Amino acid sequence: MTVHAALVQRLSAALSTSAVDNSVDRGAARAANRLALHYFSAGVGGRGDSFFARTIKLPKLLVSAACATFLLAAPASADPATAARLRDAALGDDTAWSILESLTTEVGPRPAGSPAAAVARDWGVAKFTALGFTNVHVEPFAKTAWLRGAESAEIVGPFPHRLALLGIGNSPSTPPEGLTAEVAVFKSLAELKAAPGNCCTGKIVLVNQPMTRTQDIWGYGLGVAARSAAPEAAKRGAVAYLVRSISTSTNRSPHTGAMRPPGPGVKVVPTAALGVPDADLIEHMSARGPVTVHLALQSHVVDTTAWTVSGDIAGSDPRAGVIVIGGHLDSWDPGTGAIDDASGIAITMEAAKLVATTHPRRTIRVVMWGSEETGGSGDAYLAAHKAELGNIVIAGESDLGADNIFSLQLPAGSWEKPDLKPLESLVAPLKIMAAPAPAEDGGSDIEAIHGAGVPVLALNQDASRYFDYHHTADDTLAIVDPLQLKQNVAAWTAVLETIANSDVTFRAGKKK
Ligand SMILES: [Zn+2]
Repeated sequence: MTVHAALVQRLSAALSTSAVDNSVDRGAARAANRLALHYFSAGVGGRGDSFFARTIKLPKLLVSAACATFLLAAPASADPATAARLRDAALGDDTAWSILESLTTEVGPRPAGSPAAAVARDWGVAKFTALGFTNVHVEPFAKTAWLRGAESAEIVGPFPHRLALLGIGNSPSTPPEGLTAEVAVFKSLAELKAAPGNCCTGKIVLVNQPMTRTQDIWGYGLGVAARSAAPEAAKRGAVAYLVRSISTSTNRSPHTGAMRPPGPGVKVVPTAALGVPDADLIEHMSARGPVTVHLALQSHVVDTTAWTVSGDIAGSDPRAGVIVIGGHLDSWDPGTGAIDDASGIAITMEAAKLVATTHPRRTIRVVMWGSEETGGSGDAYLAAHKAELGNIVIAGESDLGADNIFSLQLPAGSWEKPDLKPLESLVAPLKIMAAPAPAEDGGSDIEAIHGAGVPVLALNQDASRYFDYHHTADDTLAIVDPLQLKQNVAAWTAVLETIANSDVTFRAGKKK
């Protein structure tokens, strides 16, 4: 995932630092059953009119009329016992793992605009169809894609050393033969910004600023601005910009990511991220005297098409609105995009499938957004669905890996609503807090529709080790913990079952 614009704006305001574009750097049958359980004291059983027909042997037409009357008489709300049963079923189900294994094995790395993105699109359609989703369709949108070419770098002197690096998305190329220059080392982005305008003429700037490990995304939020600081280096005369990977790891795997596309008239220079030990090595050498680096970065930019793929679990009441959830289908190229973000797709798909077994009142739409890493799919989704935003009850995105969820945030005022109160007890056994602070940031792919008025929720994942692997060659199936993946599915399932069978609107000013 990339850090979200809203978060960065808050961070920027707090720190007076420049903002980074976040998208660069997420029934009738039910009511009848509930009433049937209440009036006829049935312990278990089927739903809706078939249940009535079996139980009290009424003609079907009469049963339908009875259901309608009950519906008018009583608002919909979820049955916490059913939500608890589904939650526990998720803990023993491997569907999410098999989806995750399938996408990472059969497609692998899939940057938007690459040939693999079309393979991912077809995989998405086939997976939705195989799992029984309806209204499965592809939403194309225009995409200017940055695609990596050959990359290499080495310390020429004083102590020759091959460097581990990855180009940063939207970086220009170096000349084909590369460039060679002395390195100017800064220990933080603030130090670079404080340097005079003539500090770095003809040099390669390195910002070697460590990232802080945090359970939430704040460590990343505070550190990621360094990835988009090429203009700061360029305006001080630099010929290239190197950044210590935005990473909590000490291994040599470099972490890629995108820089904010430069605005009109803003000069940038070729930019790459170094593995953490290599950035430290340059700093140590520079304490002994001038360090010279040779850098060669190739990439190309294409105007092409990207695709968001969508599938529904159809609700029993078309007027009850749609819940939009999902993850992003695109990934960075070094790994297989397991935690970023095949896991988000797998978690939300399985949760929706589990809730489908109870025939929810509201439609649950699972979306595989097609260009999160380099931006565009959130805006494209808003443009394509502008006319139906009022019908989207709430949106959520899973895009911070596959480790345990530790807190649940809902729109302001939600915890006071009786229909949602049971959620606190439903997620507590999963060691998830019902966070009192309202959800403000549901994920970068739903940021645009959130900005246009769609309420969001956040199931916040433990990101403590996420930034050891994020955007690296190590983002593979091997780092996913199957038990924690199941905890995610269980949490999403309990939340979806509850909201999909309530008539809570979440919109400010509405009673429900
Ligand atoms: Zn992501």
